[in-house]
Amino acid sequence: MKKLLITGGAGFIGSEFVRQGVKRGYKIVVVDKLTYAGDMERINESGKAVTFCKADITDSDSIRNIFKTERPDTVIHWAAESHVDRSILDATPFLETNIRGTQILLDAARRYETSRFINISTDEVYGDLKEEGQFYEDTPLNPSSPYSVSKASADMLARAYYRTYGLPVITVRPSNNYGPWQYPEKLIPVVILKALNNEKIPVYGTGKNIREWTFVSDCVDAVFLVAERGEAGEIYNIGSGEERRNIEVVKDILRLLGKPEDMIEFTKDRLGHDYRYSLNAEKIAKQLQWKTKTSYEQGIDRTTKWYMDNMEWTKGKLEHLSRYWKVVYQQ
Ligand code: NAD
Repeated sequence: MKKLLITGGAGFIGSEFVRQGVKRGYKIVVVDKLTYAGDMERINESGKAVTFCKADITDSDSIRNIFKTERPDTVIHWAAESHVDRSILDATPFLETNIRGTQILLDAARRYETSRFINISTDEVYGDLKEEGQFYEDTPLNPSSPYSVSKASADMLARAYYRTYGLPVITVRPSNNYGPWQYPEKLIPVVILKALNNEKIPVYGTGKNIREWTFVSDCVDAVFLVAERGEAGEIYNIGSGEERRNIEVVKDILRLLGKPEDMIEFTKDRLGHDYRYSLNAEKIAKQLQWKTKTSYEQGIDRTTKWYMDNMEWTKGKLEHLSRYWKVVYQQ
């Protein structure tokens, strides 16, 4: 593995992958459309090791040209429309980018004989759980939202290219990521920024829904292990075991910021809201010796401090988000 083509490398997790990839000495080609969620500031300091191609993965001519020119040996496919709430408002860009875009990349990887294709799926493809149980890599897919349906479709398509054409695809299914540079529409940055701005903090329904929180650099470590040593055709769950109710996460952040709990405002529940996700991640732990380095407590503390130190980065984004929040939370 020498030259990596990283889609979505200007996004939240993709940019952490780029920053780590540079430190690990890889040559990197980033392909990103720079949607509202993409931002070059996340990878500005990456220097000459990174070639940036502004391109839409649904544009097959551009994608084919990039493969032809750059000849990457490994593809790490992070690019996606990634926010469930937006998929509930309009599924179209999710189906286009997440399904059609993935197909275009798979076809290019076949044509230019890429030796590895890491497809980033999600725990949400499994659907949801009640209080008990876990998702294993062979649990049937049962997605609930337009977002998770689009990711499940891409997940199956990528594996079909392995089975049908022998393209060396590996699938990873990470749990909820959090950490620095996350676009402030996702739960943790929403809570931090609203609390810092002394605004009400919207929490869906009862706040009892449970998510499994993996710190972004731990997830990226896992994907490097998979890319370097994983087996073609295999699937790896990536989960920290750190399950928390949404309301607990909100209260933990308020405590860290010294803010009162009466800032919390329960809103109408998200349509089709999944109750709980929980991944069994023994396979990646045993086969590739992955383990998390950052506990939930450390991760929340680091993330909160990062947003406090980087308020400038969020300013323009918050203006863009204020109209969107009125629709999503019906405030
Ligand atoms: P993000 O929304 O922060 O970043 C997505 C990136 O993809 C952006 O830079 C955007 O500009 C780019 N992009 C979107 N559409 C594109 C297109 N048509 N062509 C080219 N580039 C395009 O997403 P993220 O949170 O970093 O997630 C990255 C991947 O990990 C996604 O595939 C997501 O489904 C998956 N994932 C995320 C989480 C999480 O908690 N964030 C959990 C599990 C899986």
